[in-house]
Amino acid sequence: DIIIEAHDLKKIYRNGQLRVDALSNINLAIKRGDMIAIMGPSGCGKTTLLNCLSGLDTIDEGDILIQGAHLGELSDQERTAFRARYMGFIFQDFNLLPVLSAVENVELPLLVSKVSARQARKRALEMLSRVGLADRARHRPAELSGGQRQRVTIARALINDPTIVWADEPTGNLDSETAAEIMDLLCQLNQENRQTFVIVTHALEVGQRAHQIITMRDGRILA
Ligand code: ADP
Ligand code: ADP
Repeated sequence: DIIIEAHDLKKIYRNGQLRVDALSNINLAIKRGDMIAIMGPSGCGKTTLLNCLSGLDTIDEGDILIQGAHLGELSDQERTAFRARYMGFIFQDFNLLPVLSAVENVELPLLVSKVSARQARKRALEMLSRVGLADRARHRPAELSGGQRQRVTIARALINDPTIVWADEPTGNLDSETAAEIMDLLCQLNQENRQTFVIVTHALEVGQRAHQIITMRDGRILA
C-alpha cells in the first residue's frame, strides 16, 4: 500500500545568474504506516525534498502522488486544503505562538477546521496528555523546556489525526538525551497510529529506527 510516490523529480533554484539543481532524478515510493528517514550532508537537498513532497514547495519537472492524488493537478487552494486535512508538520524551531498557552497552540488547527471550542479544548488536552504534557497545558512556550516545546509541536501536528506527518530536523535544537526522548515518542506514535512519518534528520539513531532510509547526495538519492 503506497501512500507517497515521486517520479523523476527535478527542482531548480534560480537567483539571478545563479542556478542550483536542488533535486535531480528523484524516484521513490513510501509505504503507508512506515517511518522514513531522509539523511545526508548539509545542503544535499533534504529539506527541499520534504517541502516538495508535502506540497509546500513546487517542482520543475516530474510527478508527485499522495494517496493516489497528483499534487500538480491541484490548485494552490486545493493543495492547502489537502495539507490541512491529511498532513501534520513538525519543524526544528517549534513555530509555536508565544502569546498562547500549550493547549491553545495545540487546539489552533481544530478551531481553524471549525471544531467547537469546547470539543477542541477537550481533544487538545487529551493530545497533550498523550505526549506527556498533561501538567503543562497552561504554560506558554517560554515557560517550557526545549523538549517540552517540541512535545507541544508534536501534539499540534497530530491533533487533526493526519495520515502523513512531516518532520524537518525535529530534534535539531535539543540536547542528545532530550532528542532521544522525542524520537522515542515519535516511534511510539508511529506504532500506535499507523501514521506515515517522513523525518529529515542528521541523527543516526533516527535512521536506525526507520523502516526505510533515503540517503541523499548533491540533490540525488543514493540508496
Ligand atoms: P539540506 O536540507 O540537505 O541541508 P536544502 O534542501 O536546504 O538542503 O538545500 C539544497 C540546496 O538548495 C542547497 O545547495 C541550498 O543552498 C539550495 N537552496 C535551498 N533553498 C534555496 C533557495 N530558496 N534559493 C536558492 N537556493 C536554495
Ligand atoms: P529540561 O531538563 O527538560 O530541559 P528545564 O531544566 O529547562 O527542563 O526545566 C525544568 C522544569 O522547569 C520544566 O518542567 C519546565 O516546565 C520548568 N521551566 C523551565 N523554564 C521555565 C520558565 N521560564 N518558567 C516556568 N517554568 C519553567
